[in-house]
Amino acid sequence: METAFESVRDESRLAPGLYIVAGPIGNLGDLTPRAAEILRKADVVAVEDTRVSAKLLRAAGSDRPMVPYHDHSNDSLRQRLVDRMVGEAVALLSDAGTPLISDPGYKLVRDARAAGRFVTSLPGPSAAIVALTLSGLPTDRFLFMGFLSSKAKARGDALAEVAALRATLVLYESGPRLSASLAAMAEGLGDRDAAVVREISKTFEETVTGTLRELSARYADAPPRGEIVVIVGPPGEAPAASQEDADAALIEAMARLPVSKAAGEVAKALGLDRRELYARAMVLKG
Ligand code: SAM
Repeated sequence: METAFESVRDESRLAPGLYIVAGPIGNLGDLTPRAAEILRKADVVAVEDTRVSAKLLRAAGSDRPMVPYHDHSNDSLRQRLVDRMVGEAVALLSDAGTPLISDPGYKLVRDARAAGRFVTSLPGPSAAIVALTLSGLPTDRFLFMGFLSSKAKARGDALAEVAALRATLVLYESGPRLSASLAAMAEGLGDRDAAVVREISKTFEETVTGTLRELSARYADAPPRGEIVVIVGPPGEAPAASQEDADAALIEAMARLPVSKAAGEVAKALGLDRRELYARAMVLKG
């Protein structure tokens, strides 16, 4: 892939501290000019995998040294990086996308902040956000869940925890696990509308929409290649409470509470009009 960035070291030095640098998620053209500049100017670049990041650094025209970093790296390595931030600019780069988003960095930021270091983050691509914008599902409220466990029990527990949440869910997934994972979601969340977003910003970018069960069936015999984000829509509206439901709830509430309070409680619980419920409660009482 081509790069528009010149292979020259900028003269001015960066202020010491931590620079969180979002990289591309498949298309080098998405490396921002500011990210490239920080990669050229940093004193050291903390990376997940030096071979992966070497390519990006080359594309950015950077010859800066790299040091491998993971949140499970030992504390002394992290402390050395935090110490270096006193007088040096440390850039943090992931293999793809925004560091800390299903990637290392949280503990480094935590410790840098605790030590009073300067911390800044350069905005850039994250597969979760791009997939959300492609899905056609509600974006006003969403929960990022990262990767679900491959163990059935842990996966079921995680889904049960969020099943009642009125929010769109965003999950990272891999091709071989996709069909089983979609089926588990249908089981744990109900057969909701969903989207499988694949290979964002690459040649074979694709978004396929359907219900969780439809998508699970589609991919059962043909696991897709490449990188995948699954977006699951929020639960559908609950059916409106029937007259029988409202009467039963009122009778139960009136056994404990004065009529107006009973009407208020039932109105809140069932999403019905309080005044109408009060009138109905008087009829039931009389
Ligand atoms: N930090 C990254 C970000 O900001 O998106 C995510 C890193 S996570 C280890 C890698 C996962 O992100 C992949 O397994 C896939 O689920 C998703 N992903 C990354 N790049 C993608 C792309 N181009 N298209 C679709 N999903 C992608």
